[in-house]
Amino acid sequence: SEQSCEEISHLSIDIGGTLIKIVYFSTNSKCSTSDEVPALSKERQEVPNGDLNHHILSGRLYFVKFETSKIEDCIKFLSSKKLQQCGAQCHHSHAVDKIKIKATGGGAFKFANLFKEKLGITLDKVEEMESLVTGANFLLKAVSHEAYTYIGGQKEYVQIDQKDLYPYLLVNIGSGVSMIKVDGDGKFERVSGTSVGGGTFLGLGKLLTKCQSFDELLELSHQGNNRVIDMLVGDIYGGLDYSKIGLASTAIASSFGKAISENKELEDYKPEDIARSLLRMISNNIGQIAYLNALRFGLKRIFLGGFFIRDHAYTMDTISVAVDFWSKGEAKAMFLRHEGFLGALGAFMNYKD
Ligand code: ADP
Repeated sequence: SEQSCEEISHLSIDIGGTLIKIVYFSTNSKCSTSDEVPALSKERQEVPNGDLNHHILSGRLYFVKFETSKIEDCIKFLSSKKLQQCGAQCHHSHAVDKIKIKATGGGAFKFANLFKEKLGITLDKVEEMESLVTGANFLLKAVSHEAYTYIGGQKEYVQIDQKDLYPYLLVNIGSGVSMIKVDGDGKFERVSGTSVGGGTFLGLGKLLTKCQSFDELLELSHQGNNRVIDMLVGDIYGGLDYSKIGLASTAIASSFGKAISENKELEDYKPEDIARSLLRMISNNIGQIAYLNALRFGLKRIFLGGFFIRDHAYTMDTISVAVDFWSKGEAKAMFLRHEGFLGALGAFMNYKD
């Protein structure tokens, strides 16, 4: 049948708090899988993986994601695939219960039994931070158009000098945020993080706007105006700049600060304005903490990954401006094209053959 023609030789999975990310290598590019799980064909195209394909002969790397809360969809997807014995550990066995796949993220622990019971798959765990770093290092070295700056609405790809890659700060914005100082292959330290991350945006956003999904919330934030809810320097200084300490009248003095005044209820604010203030608050905060950690270790380059970014202009602009503002132009925020797949790719790279 159409489905079974897709042979997967290697597959890795990153099971996070919000999303499951899968990277797999398939040698048959002719067959279509769109009839099995309709939503996937779109997802599969969403990630630009063109550059990566040049590095691998006679096959393609695919990138797929699922919501962790709908892990059943992921199980269904995997059971529809013809998984060959992945990696060296199971060379001699064709038995389905001997299949091992590289897995990272907290769900590699949490769902280990589920994978064993439903699919006969053993999750071969790769440590989460190690996977992120391996994934980022691979992308930064092997893919020419991977990292880019986002300034004034313009994406600009950055040529990375391989000999001058380290050290850098890796900021992964998933449900929570990890900040890792990377000094080389396998040489890294998780130096900081914040619980105010993508999960906070989605969680608070759902409560405050009644949005049902991340995409809806992002879409809403497009149309909003944060100045309706944020207290600006100008609101406090009567429209004037506070020039003595270098704050423009339009700078945010207090996120959501205007909501304290008047006799307003949640219903009096437009969901789009709330979504915008929330996105701004969280992106700004991450940009600031990232900069402080870069400063702490003398790092000039900050690479950002994780599915919170989703190539979203306003998010990237806010983070870039925050890093530029706090570092007075010294440090640069750079985004990665395979943003959310760092961990899954890192686990994938862990296959020895
Ligand atoms: P984790 O490994 O913790 O799941 P990810 O890097 O996958 O982290 O990022 C999860 C975050 O990405 C969510 O908290 C949310 O802010 C954002 N996000 C982007 N796209 C989606 C989506 N389709 N569904 C849910 N969250 C999404």
